[in-house]
Amino acid sequence: MKMTNLYAPTLREVPAEAEVPSHQLMFRAGMIRKAAGGVYSYLPLAWRTLRKIEQIVREEMDAKGGQEIAMPIVQPAEIWQQTGRWDVYGDEMFRLKDRHQRDFCLGPTHEEMVTTLVKQDVRSYRQLPLLVYQIQNKYRDEIRPRFGLMRGREFIMKDLYSFDRDTDGLEISYKKMYDAYSQIFSRCGLEFRPVEADPGAIGGSGTHEFMVIADSGEAAIAYCDGCDFAANVEKAELLSLTSVAEAEKPLEKVATPGQKTINAVAEYLSLSADRLIKSLAFVTEKGPILALVRGDHEVNEIKLANLLNVLQLEMAGEKEIQSLFHSEPGYIGPVGLSNVTIVADASVMNMVNAVCGANAADQHLTNVMPLRDIKPAHVADIRLIREGDPCPRCGAPVKTARGIEVGQVFKLHTKYSQALDATYLDENGQERLMVMGCYGVGVSRTMAAAIEQHHDADGIIWPASIAPYQVVIVPINTKDESQMTMAEQIYRELSAAGVEVVLDDREERSGVKFKDADLIGYPLRITVGPKALKENSVELKVRRTKESLLLPLDGYVEGVIRLLASL
Ligand code: ATP
Ligand code: MG
Repeated sequence: MKMTNLYAPTLREVPAEAEVPSHQLMFRAGMIRKAAGGVYSYLPLAWRTLRKIEQIVREEMDAKGGQEIAMPIVQPAEIWQQTGRWDVYGDEMFRLKDRHQRDFCLGPTHEEMVTTLVKQDVRSYRQLPLLVYQIQNKYRDEIRPRFGLMRGREFIMKDLYSFDRDTDGLEISYKKMYDAYSQIFSRCGLEFRPVEADPGAIGGSGTHEFMVIADSGEAAIAYCDGCDFAANVEKAELLSLTSVAEAEKPLEKVATPGQKTINAVAEYLSLSADRLIKSLAFVTEKGPILALVRGDHEVNEIKLANLLNVLQLEMAGEKEIQSLFHSEPGYIGPVGLSNVTIVADASVMNMVNAVCGANAADQHLTNVMPLRDIKPAHVADIRLIREGDPCPRCGAPVKTARGIEVGQVFKLHTKYSQALDATYLDENGQERLMVMGCYGVGVSRTMAAAIEQHHDADGIIWPASIAPYQVVIVPINTKDESQMTMAEQIYRELSAAGVEVVLDDREERSGVKFKDADLIGYPLRITVGPKALKENSVELKVRRTKESLLLPLDGYVEGVIRLLASL
């Protein structure tokens, strides 16, 4: 490709809304342009990289026996109504009506569609296992589309669905996909971690997310260097912590005028925060909840919602707190409470002579003995893991990091086959439900994640496997005939050897061309100038290391190919 023909309009400025490096750099490198919030056009450089990621995904899916299909993006409401997800999906679903006022949606995912498809044709155990996948646009009307391609409303996903005879079969399919995902993200040149995750709205049980480690990641993960524990913090289980050993004292009410926060009360009473009980009121569709965690801990709302099996869980407002606790926020507490469901974190129940709100303005209770003074409906692990907490497996202090979820594997079991009546006949002619799994890779998000992990102040640094082009040739002076002759020759020879090359034939200053080369992030740059001509060699610069090297013209093609394989 000649740069004068390439549709890659590079820019120096970025729109203010581009907060993260991948968004800024894709915009500046002329890779994407916005059409609407979370909806983008992909220009040639982006599209080439996306196709490479897709190809890696495709090869790994095929290697595990996956068969590529293409299902409709436009999906009828009926199949979603059968599983109950027409309502559950809520505002995130893009809905539309046809001319006859029939309801449809743009597919946010395809469990309903694929189950409806497969059940028509699979009748016998002999046809199982079956693994089908597709790579296509998905549509989700995200509350906060942001970070460019990381959280789009239209984005590219690979989704594979496995159908097995039984859970043993599902375990095998799941393992295949888990391994395939590790291969995919390794081949894309990414540093990643599979972590245990919360099943969320898709349902089922047993799931891992594949996280690309990056500071801009929206997810937080906890992991242990002492063992193989790694989990999304939403899911990470915790051991209950023990408290100080101290003799039990009688409950007492103390004045705490104006002290409304854990830190203020702790300071006022000269105690550390772990001696206080944090009381948080929530409203749910099943009524009000008072959640208790230790003062230095945070509530994990996902664990709490899962425990109570509620869909809505919102912090109570001032009005609700007044009517439930006859007190103002900052002074509420669990002692003597009977009209609100109390959920205590397991560590709270181990506390001794603790402090909590007294349900009266400017007052707290001290010497609270949770086992004696609090009547929780549930005692469970409801807190958020934090750096340094003991690992739930081995007890070593855990570490935390930020991650971008690029893929997720799920054991669905019979959730969808049951709702949609997807059955087969086993060896004995018995009708049985198919056992399913689903497995997604965010293809467009993976491209963004690669940039988040691989960039510097000058631009993108593509791993060679997914670079839009692998090499750029920059003649220093396009008016110099001998330089252009050499540049064209290298261009022809590398292209003939299957290397993807751009020849920057623009009549621009070399500084401008070097800047664009760094911004676009080709793994290798070949400079053709007086030095190369004089030494009769190919002058290379490695984008990642900024290292320069000269290869003799004789045999340089193999040298370039070998170098690319290491990048
Ligand atoms: P998230 O928690 O980030 O919203 P999710 O868990 O809802 O994602 P899945 O249903 O597991 O997403 O979808 C499979 C993959 O699709 C995700 O792992 C992610 O890589 C990608 N993906 C999901 N939502 C988006 C989005 N809005 N924009 C880009 N990629 C997305
Ligand atoms: Mg997910």
